[in-house]
Amino acid sequence: MKHLILILACIFSFHTLQAQLLNKEAFSLLNLDYPGLEKVKEAYFDDKFDVAAQELLNYYRQRTGIVNPFLDLNHITISETEQKWADDALEHTFFVHNGYQPSYNYGKDINWQYWPVKDNELRWQLHRHKWFTPMGKAYWLTKDEKYAKEWVYQFTDWIKKNPLQQIDPVLYEVYDVDGVTGMAENVRFAWRPLEASERLRGQINQFTLFLNAKAFTPAFLTDFLVNYFKHARHTMDNYSQQGNHLLFEAEYVLCAGIFFPEFIEAPNWRKSGIDILNREIKKQVYEDGGQYELDLGYHLGCIDTFSAALKMAQENGYGNEFPSSYIETIEKMMLFSMHVYFPDYTYPCFSDARRPAPFSQVRNFQHWLKLFPDNEQLRYFATQGKEGKLPDELCHAAPVTGFFTFRNGWGQDATVMILKAGPKGEWHCQPDNGTFELWFNGKNLFPDSGSYIYGGNEEVWKKRNWFRQTRVHNTLTLDNKNLETTQSVTKLWKELPNAHVLVTENPSYKGLTHRRSVFFVDNSYFVVVDEAFGAATGTVTLHYQLCDGKVDIDKQKSLLRTRYTGNSNVVLRCFGPKDMRMEEEEGWYSIAYQQRTQRPAVAFNVEKSTSEPVRYITIIYPTKNAKKAPRLEARFLTPQFDEKGLEIEVALNGKKEKLGYELE
Ligand code: MG
Repeated sequence: MKHLILILACIFSFHTLQAQLLNKEAFSLLNLDYPGLEKVKEAYFDDKFDVAAQELLNYYRQRTGIVNPFLDLNHITISETEQKWADDALEHTFFVHNGYQPSYNYGKDINWQYWPVKDNELRWQLHRHKWFTPMGKAYWLTKDEKYAKEWVYQFTDWIKKNPLQQIDPVLYEVYDVDGVTGMAENVRFAWRPLEASERLRGQINQFTLFLNAKAFTPAFLTDFLVNYFKHARHTMDNYSQQGNHLLFEAEYVLCAGIFFPEFIEAPNWRKSGIDILNREIKKQVYEDGGQYELDLGYHLGCIDTFSAALKMAQENGYGNEFPSSYIETIEKMMLFSMHVYFPDYTYPCFSDARRPAPFSQVRNFQHWLKLFPDNEQLRYFATQGKEGKLPDELCHAAPVTGFFTFRNGWGQDATVMILKAGPKGEWHCQPDNGTFELWFNGKNLFPDSGSYIYGGNEEVWKKRNWFRQTRVHNTLTLDNKNLETTQSVTKLWKELPNAHVLVTENPSYKGLTHRRSVFFVDNSYFVVVDEAFGAATGTVTLHYQLCDGKVDIDKQKSLLRTRYTGNSNVVLRCFGPKDMRMEEEEGWYSIAYQQRTQRPAVAFNVEKSTSEPVRYITIIYPTKNAKKAPRLEARFLTPQFDEKGLEIEVALNGKKEKLGYELE
């Protein structure tokens, strides 16, 4: 009899039935011998399914011992924004993406395939249901059933209209929107493993918040559990190949296994999550603590993922399933962050990173400190310097990741240059080796172009690709093309008597290698020596992208002076071959999705017609007032490019200083 019921339940897949009918399949997915489910088991074996479902709901409403560390039920708060998402959702206006505001309305009869702008993210992220947990909070705080009723309605509506059907897993990773049609088109958005796993996590919170609502009926519980099971199974069967998606998926599968141990498969989910995280932390995090996307936003995301998984495990008694090396690596990632932050806790928008609000990252350090309460450096940043201890070194190299920091202090008035010259990196990484951001006296003078937008149709890709170009970074190009190879080699990182020096080399193009030597002189200004050598010919260009605002440009002198309001300005002067031409270029930077700001950008062009190397010296002189800055001059003392070393002379108002190094 029971088998027959199960078969019938499978045949009449529950999408074809009314949502509020009991979904008996739920019982076959649970370990009915799990402690506390005795009454459920008894009723189930007596074929009293309504009673079994009611007993199951009673069990969950009274369940103790399972901790959801991501919600503190005694201190639930809802921000104004979350309240708006919750209220808008009652009208089917769904918050999907910050880049598309105000949010779109998805219709009285919800159209889950509505796609007003052909940006993949808009379609994918709809299926993350970002407004569901805010609805749960609104319900928890007001006990107003309208939120619960609407959540149950949307939840079941989503299940009904987004059936899971198997498609080629490759399609989940396709970024070209025109390539997939038919049924697979919706499945690839609604059931991309990243979105499915996000729902796994979100639904833990929604379950916690709505569990006692009237609308959360025994029948709905059975729907919920069957749907939840399907999500965990689907995510595990279709894990992303690699990268941050895989990490999120593993974390959420782990959380699913710990939060719903009643599922027969729960121990496998937990093990699967832990195994992947253990494996990936070794692969994705370099020895120096940097993450292999070379994107500081993703770096943070990974810290979150690794530490959230650990927290979930620890608080539910599974902490010892993670080895100590895992925990040590998380700490290393946190210390890496500290060195690549500016004094207002923002960080460079290298690769696809977006700029966090100033000081918003303090709270990260506060979370991190909870995990590592003995770390005095984390304490310093968590308390904004009130307690704890600063790192011993100002200048810092993460040589494997290729992030180099020149720094003369930690306060707002500090000068900080963070330069990126590392390995190829993963999907989010841009071909920008040698580029940098420079903070001086409270302002970012050379913000990275950023990423602006992710993938989508042709028009969206065109916008994205503009910001990815090598030529819109502070580095050197051949014929304005993107770098063909992005594999920088660090030749030198050293404290000299009068400067801190970095020498990094990238085999940028076939026949053209770019060596960049950066001197942070007297802890106050920078001298950047660029040498392009190899047999290739073409136009060699050195690019610099400034902050938005007024600048004076003197092409005759290859000189630029900013006239920004406030006390943070810069003078930049470039010295190159006689035929070097200074030109203005199109400049934009983006620190948030779909937002961009126009800014001045300049290029120093040299025609390279022989195998003779092209050499530049740029002095970048940050100053409170550019008008009062000294006269800048520089020249090579090494008569021609020498692989073994370099010597130059710079002069500020005629006061000469020699800079140089020898390589071993
Ligand atoms: Mg960039």
